[in-house]
Amino acid sequence: MTSLAVRGIGELLTWEAEQPVRHDAGLVISDGVVAWVGASGQTPAADEVIEAAGAAVIPGFVDSHTHLVFAGDRAEEFAARMAGQRYRAGGIRTTVEATRQASVDELRRLTASRMAELRAQGTTTVEIKSGYGLDLDTEVKLLRLASEFTEETTFLGAHVVPAGSDPAAYVELVTGEMLRACAPYAKWVDVFCETGAFDVDQSRAVLAAGMAAGLKPRIHANQLDYGPGVQLACELGAAAADHCTYLSDADVAALADTGVVAGLLPGVEFSTKHPYPDARRLLDAGVRIAIATDCNPGTSYTSSIPFCIAVAVREMGLTPTEALHAATQGGAWSLQRTDVGHLRPGAEGNLVILNAPSHLHLAYRPGVPLVRRVIGSVQI
Ligand SMILES: [Zn+2]
Repeated sequence: MTSLAVRGIGELLTWEAEQPVRHDAGLVISDGVVAWVGASGQTPAADEVIEAAGAAVIPGFVDSHTHLVFAGDRAEEFAARMAGQRYRAGGIRTTVEATRQASVDELRRLTASRMAELRAQGTTTVEIKSGYGLDLDTEVKLLRLASEFTEETTFLGAHVVPAGSDPAAYVELVTGEMLRACAPYAKWVDVFCETGAFDVDQSRAVLAAGMAAGLKPRIHANQLDYGPGVQLACELGAAAADHCTYLSDADVAALADTGVVAGLLPGVEFSTKHPYPDARRLLDAGVRIAIATDCNPGTSYTSSIPFCIAVAVREMGLTPTEALHAATQGGAWSLQRTDVGHLRPGAEGNLVILNAPSHLHLAYRPGVPLVRRVIGSVQI
C-alpha cells in the first residue's frame, strides 16, 4: 500500500455535495484512490507528502470528446477559414487520406505526443474516437491504437461517407462487417448526424447496430445547423449529444428531460467562426453539460481544456466554477464514469496542482501555463 498526502491546499475543489470547495485543506491518495479529504492541519501521515503552499488543487480534467489518432494537419484550411471561407464536413476526407497512408508506428508516435500535450495541461481521463480510416482495416487499426491509450474508445466509422462510396452501401458496411471487427476494441458507438455527413435515419441505424453489438451510444449533433441529432440522442438514451451549437427550445427540453449530457466543444466554434453554444441557456434549463476539446486537425486542433474553459467563460455564459465543473464532473457524466471528475473519497486519485491560488485563474489568465503538477492515471 502506498499513500500520498497533499497538504496546505489553498483551495480544494472536490465537488462534494455539502462542501464543493474547501480552503486550507489536505487530501490523501491511497493506492491510487482518494482516501481522505479534510483540514490541512489534520492530514494523516503518508509515504510521500507534497506541500501545496497555498496553491489550488482541482480534479484532473475529463476530456470526453477527442479524435487523437490521425496523421497530417489542416493548417491551410484553418487559415482559409480565418480569411472568410466557410467550414464544411467534407474536409475530414483530407485527414482520412493522410491517416490511411501512415504506419501504425507513426500513428502511435503522433498519438503519444498528443497525449503528453493533454496531460501537461491537466487532463487525466480522455475519450478517443476512430473515424479517420473509413475502411474496415484502418478503423480497426485506429481503435486498437486508441485502446493502448484509454479505455474510453469510440467507434466512429460513420464520420463521413468516404470519397467515391455509395452512402447506403457504406452504412451497411458500418453497421455490419466493420462494426463486428471494431466492436471488440470500442466502448462507444458514435455518428456524425449532420447535413453532408449522415441523415437521421442513417444515424439511427448506425447507433442501433452499435447498441445491439454491446456498445453505448453518443452522437455528434446540431453542430452546423438545427437538426434532428439531439432528438435522436434523447430517443435512444445516448450518454451524450456533442456540439449542441444550434438548439431549438424542444431540443433543450428533451436534453433536460432525458438527462442526456450536452457536450460543448468551444474549440470548434473558435476554429470555424460559428456562433458559440449557449451554455447558460442549457444550465438554466437543468441540462447537464460537459466541456471537451474535440481535439482534431480540422475544426479544433487544441489539446487544452484550460483554453476551452476560458472561452466558455468569455463566450458561453458560464462562471469559471461552472466551466471547471463541466470539464471535470461533466466529462465524467458524459462518459458515465463515477470514479473520475471529482475528488470525493473513493475517486481515482487524479488531480492537478495549479500555479495559482484559485481555480478562477484558469479563465482569468487565459493562455498561461497554470498546471504545476499532474497526479493521476493517464496511460502514456
Ligand atoms: Zn468530434
